[in-house]
Amino acid sequence: MEIDVLTLFPRIFEGPLDESILKRAQKSGLVAVRVHNLRDFTHDKHRVVDDKPYGGGPGMLMKPEPIFEAVETIRREESCVVLMTPQGAPLTQERAQEFSRKPHLVIICGHYEGVDERVREALVDEEVSIGDYVLTNGALAAAVFVDAVVRLLPGVLGDEQSAGDDSFSSGLLEGPQYTRPPEFRGMQVPEVLLSGNHEAVARWLAKSARQRTKERRPDLLKED
Ligand code: SAM
Repeated sequence: MEIDVLTLFPRIFEGPLDESILKRAQKSGLVAVRVHNLRDFTHDKHRVVDDKPYGGGPGMLMKPEPIFEAVETIRREESCVVLMTPQGAPLTQERAQEFSRKPHLVIICGHYEGVDERVREALVDEEVSIGDYVLTNGALAAAVFVDAVVRLLPGVLGDEQSAGDDSFSSGLLEGPQYTRPPEFRGMQVPEVLLSGNHEAVARWLAKSARQRTKERRPDLLKED
């Protein structure tokens, strides 16, 4: 997969992209992530990327020209152009799965009051929100989006860390998990997990996942 990110703050990506699983995924060639500064697509002396909104109101809007030039330079036939916006459809595990099957994502990060509406109308294939709250700019949201998508690419997590058991992948939250020691400060690991009885363990894991989902996210449980 290839990902091109368009932002006014390329440095925000340095941390998330240069650590752990995202770093390894790039090193092993499973994903190529390129981060572009939208100011590089301006042509004036001051590299202006924003202007006042028509009709008044506080704040500034991102101008269309640098975004159009950047997207039209970078996108290809098979590209999916994504706008990070709190007005987009919420990012879910299911949507992350769908995006992980796209060969090329071009991600536009907004700033200030957002982007000129013509960007949305003419360039954008998908709008993604990472939740019902407003961030100062789209770079952090895009870093979350990239992480959620890249970890689902085949080979990125490896056998020891499959995404299939994660919360939401099966439609439920994952149940409680334990590691050694079997007793810590008087708190015991459930007996069944130490039993070596694989069937009983599987039953316990399935039951506890359902129980946890019922307690915390009953909305995820389908009507039986
Ligand atoms: N005025 C805009 C509105 O009310 O919809 C919000 C603009 S926000 C301050 C600036 C930028 O941050 C947005 O253009 C978007 O790229 C990004 N952003 C903020 N919250 C987000 C969220 N929940 N999900 C995705 N992107 C978000």
